[in-house]
Amino acid sequence: MRKRVMIEEPWCRECIRTGVSPPRRTTVADHKRNRAEGGANVRENYQGLCDPHSKAKTAKEAARARWRNRNAD
Ligand SMILES: [Zn+2]
Repeated sequence: MRKRVMIEEPWCRECIRTGVSPPRRTTVADHKRNRAEGGANVRENYQGLCDPHSKAKTAKEAARARWRNRNAD
């Protein structure tokens, strides 16, 4: 799946969305909605991201996971 995403989305989607110019190359096939939050392993749930955007998103997801754990019971 990673290969397919990188071929179909050679430039980071988040760079394009936020107007980073020039956009950086896709290096990561990211789950838009991650597995912990119920995201599926289907093409529609993947997006190409560059390293910095992937790391920023992962950090946000980790913060949400901590919040969920704190509020679990
Ligand atoms: Zn990016």
